Amino acid sequence: MACQDPAVTGVRAAAYTVPTDRPSADGTLTWDSTTIVIVRVAGGGHEGIGWTYGPAAIAAIVRDKLEPVVNGRPVLDVSAALEAMVRAVRNAGRPGAVGYAISAVETALWDLKARLLGLPLYRLLGAMREEVPLYGSGGLTSYGDDELRRQLSGWVHEEGFPRVKIKIGESRGTRERRDLERVALAREVIGDRAALFVDANGAYTAKQAVRVGRGLDDAGVRWLEEPVSSQDLTGLRQVREGVAMDVTAGEYGCTVSYFEEMCAAQAVDCPQIDITRCGGVLEFLRICAVAAAHELDNSGHCAPYLHRHAAAAAPRLRHLEWFHDHVRIEQRFFDGADPPEQGVLPLDGQRPGHGVELREADAEPYRVA
Ligand SMILES: [Mg+2]
Repeated sequence: MACQDPAVTGVRAAAYTVPTDRPSADGTLTWDSTTIVIVRVAGGGHEGIGWTYGPAAIAAIVRDKLEPVVNGRPVLDVSAALEAMVRAVRNAGRPGAVGYAISAVETALWDLKARLLGLPLYRLLGAMREEVPLYGSGGLTSYGDDELRRQLSGWVHEEGFPRVKIKIGESRGTRERRDLERVALAREVIGDRAALFVDANGAYTAKQAVRVGRGLDDAGVRWLEEPVSSQDLTGLRQVREGVAMDVTAGEYGCTVSYFEEMCAAQAVDCPQIDITRCGGVLEFLRICAVAAAHELDNSGHCAPYLHRHAAAAAPRLRHLEWFHDHVRIEQRFFDGADPPEQGVLPLDGQRPGHGVELREADAEPYRVA
């Protein structure tokens, strides 16, 4: 195919802070707002969009550190642009906000490339599937019992989700009995219609997680996420060996080598990969390959409308996290953020790129940078 070879002609970044719908907490953090940083790259008469979640300062990192190395590069050569961004941040340090900024730009470049070629991104990458299985994710420790009931019941009994996740490890793991009571309540609400997952956000010690884990196993919980800090690979492995359910982690990972180390340590049963943090589409797929080399499946973490195309192209994908907080923002800000059907997110084979358009008028009131 004869193809134009346009260059990137502009990179823009803006941050928007959206209040949560109610006070929010998990095992180790409380928050009352969530900030999305949206990047737009221009080239060849089109514009691509990508995003991440994190501090508004990410927009400044994009402008100061990444825009100068991406501008003027061939739109089609996303891998070279990624490499250039990674090299440019050597002294700034890639993990954390800088890696999140790289991810937002990289995902915007893929959107632009796919739009130039007139293809949905998952077709450009090579589709493995036409829809992405989801799990409903919420059940915050700050919810009252009625709120927990309403949310889980809505997902399972009204929307047909086959798996849902709640937060445990309340107050940094000091309320074990309450954790198990909430798990029992969740089970009572969903019955045997759906699998039950829990996320402790690193709140427990390893031995504590094994003790609580026995109760979770008895309640039929299938997925124990971050029972201890993700930094503690030895602790994760200890928990993994001490419980029947799958132990998972990985949401903060910013590099392929982070996941290689996690897999090699036999710390998890299913690494969780976040495309808005790990470096974007290419790194997401490379990490899937690393996990596959260790005979492990993978799962996508949050930001469902940015993950869906890479997830549809990913080998050994189990599911993608349908995180209440991000779903709210993405459905409010983007046209094309269509609702799931029976717990799966269908891919639109018609719309190019990520298949979403920013509704500027809806986003602008939340703009902070
Ligand atoms: Mg988590």
